[in-house]
Amino acid sequence: MAVAAPKPVVLYPSLGVGHLNPMVELAKLFLRRGLAVVVAVVDSPDKDSVSAAAVARLAAANPDVAFRLLPVPSCGREDRRPHLVMRTIDVMRATNPALREFLRAQVPAADAVVLDMFCTDALDVDAELGVPAYLFFPSALGYLAVMLHLPDYYPAAPSSFKDMPDAVLHFPGVPPIRALDMPTTVQDGDSEVSKARLAQYARMLEARGILVNSFDRLESRALSALRCGLCAPGCSTPPVHCIGPLVLPGNTGGISKRHACLQWLDAQPDRSVVFLSFGSLGRFSTAQLREMARGLENSGQRFLWVVRNPPEHQSNSVEPDLASLLPEGFLDRTREKGFVVKNWAPQSEVLRHQSVGAFVTHCGWNSALEGIVSGVPMICWPLYAEQRMNKVLMVEEMKVGVVVDGYEEELVKAEELEIKVRLVMAPDGGKELRQRIATVREMAIDALKEGGSSDIAFDEFLTDL
Ligand code: UDP
Repeated sequence: MAVAAPKPVVLYPSLGVGHLNPMVELAKLFLRRGLAVVVAVVDSPDKDSVSAAAVARLAAANPDVAFRLLPVPSCGREDRRPHLVMRTIDVMRATNPALREFLRAQVPAADAVVLDMFCTDALDVDAELGVPAYLFFPSALGYLAVMLHLPDYYPAAPSSFKDMPDAVLHFPGVPPIRALDMPTTVQDGDSEVSKARLAQYARMLEARGILVNSFDRLESRALSALRCGLCAPGCSTPPVHCIGPLVLPGNTGGISKRHACLQWLDAQPDRSVVFLSFGSLGRFSTAQLREMARGLENSGQRFLWVVRNPPEHQSNSVEPDLASLLPEGFLDRTREKGFVVKNWAPQSEVLRHQSVGAFVTHCGWNSALEGIVSGVPMICWPLYAEQRMNKVLMVEEMKVGVVVDGYEEELVKAEELEIKVRLVMAPDGGKELRQRIATVREMAIDALKEGGSSDIAFDEFLTDL
């Protein structure tokens, strides 16, 4: 007699590697418990984007995970809205029919759908088909706590943070936040993007549960605030399960495909290298790249630096011409101490390498978690999205990094980068930070162990399923 196939859980990430990577790690949690899972990935309309390449890379690195590409209806480039977040919301909404089709065709029917934070429009599809919907929040719990609270907060405050940059804002469960450190999407409360994001957060409360890529002891205050209903007063917050940290493993390419920068790291002393990497989208002006180069050179420290073309270049997949972007003679002078990677490095492997001693990061949440699980102290240089808020959480709440002053201005000066790099790498200067990150790393490992808080939280979620 044929055994009935298990009902799969469908995972539905949004566009971008920062959303896709942790969703694939979530898929592996299901697989480890012997459950069926499919990752339904929207076929990105940006064919030249790094995320398109990431799908292929992830599929190759994870043969056990089933991926399905959902076609997105083509729309002319001229119809596409300029703001990346609005474009993402549009694409995810336009893919609803393909998701509906895919879910209808599932035999047996999907047990549940887990939606990324940008996919709240898909709640309509799940409701229509009667498939239970959960949400996966791939960012900090503190960020979720603030965003759920914003609608309640606005009536008491001007809705535009950009008009009061130095005002200090207080939200339950997180440290005080300067208005200029609020996410870029909600800086102007009257903007289309701010309204769209708040509408999405309001809809998140419709989910049956929210899985968060964090762990209890990292953000215990935010977790209590959410569970006590302080963040969305007057509404009922669905159960929140901290199941992280879910990060890429350290061996994404396999030995044969080992990146040249890893071989270079092999030859460096332990904890001696500063790693600089700014997410999937981080780019700097030529003037800023030159300041960074001067700061690194003057610090006298070894470094591994991911460099991309400045924003005025149309595509970020075109290789940068390092000789013209960086100061004259810089590459020659630093040949012994530095290694510059064009566009993309195997970050998660790099961070776990014993030669890396500090991480200059844009504070994307995946990067922050990768820094934590690798036990590498961080130098926070937030750039876009909610990264300034992450910086506040990382520096004030978690105490796993220091900040680069001037991140909110046009240029961070070479001298500032030099000072922070020297501070964190110095045997005395960075000692406290190194001890703290080692402690937080242990907490992360404990959370993921059998019987740890994240392991239990995932089981609780499965019980609800
Ligand atoms: N990443 C990488 N190599 C790079 C830049 C980024 O592997 O050169 C990975 C990084 O390890 C992380 C993801 O891309 O897993 C970026 O996610 P994050 O949330 O940090 O930033 P985002 O790109 O979403 O701003």
